[in-house]
Amino acid sequence: MWLESHAGLGPLPGLFPDLAALRAAPPAKLWPVADPDLRWLDDLNPAQREAVTYGEGPLLVVAGAGTGKTRTLAYRVAYLVAQGAPPERILLLTFTRRAAEEMLSRAEGVLRRAGDVRGRAWGGTFHATASRLLRLHGQAAGLSPDFTVLDGGDAEDLLGLLRHELGLASRDRRFPRKATCLAIYSRAVNGTEDLSTVLARHFPWTAAWEDELRTLFRAYVDRKKRLRVLDFDDLLLYWREMVADPALARELSAQFDHLLVDEYQDTNRLQAEILRGMRIGNDNVTVVGDDAQSIYRFRGATVRNILDFPREFPGARIVALEENYRSTMPILRTANALIAQARERYTKNLWSPRERGPRPLLVACRDERAQDEFVVGEVLARYEAGVPLRNQAVLFRAAHHTASLEVELARRGIPFRKYGGLKFVETAHIKDALAFLRVAENPRDELAWFRILELLDGVGPVTVSRALAHLAQHGHRPEAIAFFSGPSASREDLERLGKLLAELRGDLPLPAQVERVRRFYEPLLTALYDHAPARLRDLESLEVIASGYSSRRSFLADLQLDPPESAADLAGPPHLDDDWLVLSTIHSAKGCEWDAVYLIHAADGFLPSDLATGSEEEIEEELRLVYVALTRAKTYLTVTWPLRYAYRRWGAADAHGYAQLCRFFTPAVRETMEEGTAGGDVGTPSEGHGVTRFDGAARIRARWG
Ligand code: ATP
Ligand code: MG
Repeated sequence: MWLESHAGLGPLPGLFPDLAALRAAPPAKLWPVADPDLRWLDDLNPAQREAVTYGEGPLLVVAGAGTGKTRTLAYRVAYLVAQGAPPERILLLTFTRRAAEEMLSRAEGVLRRAGDVRGRAWGGTFHATASRLLRLHGQAAGLSPDFTVLDGGDAEDLLGLLRHELGLASRDRRFPRKATCLAIYSRAVNGTEDLSTVLARHFPWTAAWEDELRTLFRAYVDRKKRLRVLDFDDLLLYWREMVADPALARELSAQFDHLLVDEYQDTNRLQAEILRGMRIGNDNVTVVGDDAQSIYRFRGATVRNILDFPREFPGARIVALEENYRSTMPILRTANALIAQARERYTKNLWSPRERGPRPLLVACRDERAQDEFVVGEVLARYEAGVPLRNQAVLFRAAHHTASLEVELARRGIPFRKYGGLKFVETAHIKDALAFLRVAENPRDELAWFRILELLDGVGPVTVSRALAHLAQHGHRPEAIAFFSGPSASREDLERLGKLLAELRGDLPLPAQVERVRRFYEPLLTALYDHAPARLRDLESLEVIASGYSSRRSFLADLQLDPPESAADLAGPPHLDDDWLVLSTIHSAKGCEWDAVYLIHAADGFLPSDLATGSEEEIEEELRLVYVALTRAKTYLTVTWPLRYAYRRWGAADAHGYAQLCRFFTPAVRETMEEGTAGGDVGTPSEGHGVTRFDGAARIRARWG
């Protein structure tokens, strides 16, 4: 049972009634709502209003998908401000920057309607907030304020470098790869398990390397300190260290009157400790979450945070929301039947007053091509019937599952945006461009130096090491690179680089800095990469986004921490007539909703992913993932799966090349759905599929008129 794996968690049946008993406690400290200025509270149902208008103290909202948890938080921010709380003393923690921005503008919208417009609350992810707070208070914890942040790729590279330096890479038996090293490190620092337990439980094949891993991690921590860089985990670790110090914890706690957290089920132990430490002498904290939607266990998230909340914050009020405002009842029936397979959950079945609506469709497609054609046909049919593309989303388990669909969309000229794949700032050319700015910001950032110098002709790791020594001898002044004696092919570039860095460290406005970098980098990019014109356009987008920032430091921090999902996100708000179809991984679809949702590749091996079927816990998490996908739909839900794949993948196809329907669509779930086929003759499905034969496409189309 997945919940029991968390160390120290008592028998579950004991815990859930605890929460249930607390929920029944009498309402505490409610403020009156007679005020005519608060008429906007009528937008809420009584339970939501209770949460929104709850007075001082800890508050936990545990509720299912689409019951208005996020809306309740946004209204609560508005309410607190309306009650006189200074916005800049409110901190809202969300899972993505997009979510924070949306919620804060929703709160502002509510206040504007009431004629009350004041400043903005603090909002963002835990990591972005950590970065801001560490710049302000980090010196007390021994941090230099000019630290730069390493993204996952940089952190891996640094571990790779140290692995070599320590001679671990050349042992007889294979030492774990750099990506595995980072995963182990991250798991160990984010959870409550020590290294031995992490290895035994999650990475058993690496257990023999425990001593070496410990040495590696020690070197990693030391090197980061010397380079004045922090990785993502460090942001949280330093934050926790700050709140572990009583004086600093008091100071930080005093900075905020109210803390609010969305998606609490996906926070980890470290984040819970931070939250606790941020509430010294003031326990105004609101968290909302849904245990059935916990999908980040692989990153150390634990649903225990929800269960433990009343214990961490004694006297917590618990509010349950039960009415779903998002989906029609037929969609909820399918979602309820699906999540009924979960071994343990706290939130109840969902219900909606929207009784009527089409039943969700389960469509067996002849093959992947048929699936692409079917989905595109459906999207267009709905578009013709008045549902804009951007109110429709195609969801999938892994980013590469849409390769052929993207080709089909491009062929048919349908604009789309993809979320959750390779992010804009993770592309090589953007990382290169940012490396120049990082060096200007923090001349000790060796990883950024590596990136830049290796772009130059004839420069390899050995030359870079010499260059770094040269810089150290010259007091880490980046412009000193101009007179480093590198290979002759690179001399001219080194001089230009020195000049560029000197300029960047002058008083150029940020967009001009980005423009200088672009001009320096353009010829290198054209020589090194394919698709140069598209990449150059991305660099221009980078200039546009830079114009929104007053400091290089906050620009870099934002891009590293809350990267925009795609280059298109950088181009500012879309024009009203812009319309595009959303393609998103299920993980990135968290908290979102669309009129029409298409869940594709609902075949075992894809969903659940064959990488996540090792243990029962992993399978449970995949089940919750499917639940998250289904509960994104407001009116139309379509689930498709190809019966055959063009080539066989391990786990995805049986000996005849047939796929198996995703195991979570049991007969009980399918009873709530309408089934059909696409792609003409679907051949002979393997045993157990039980696909009903009728012309699904024709029936489906008929319904949209
Ligand atoms: P998830 O678990 O998926 O994050 P959620 O519980 O956060 O969902 P919201 O996104 O806040 O739910 O709300 C779902 C939808 O229901 C939104 O479109 C929201 O505007 C709408 N909604 C919520 N409460 C009400 C209400 N009282 N009246 C009308 N619409 C509501
Ligand atoms: Mg939400």
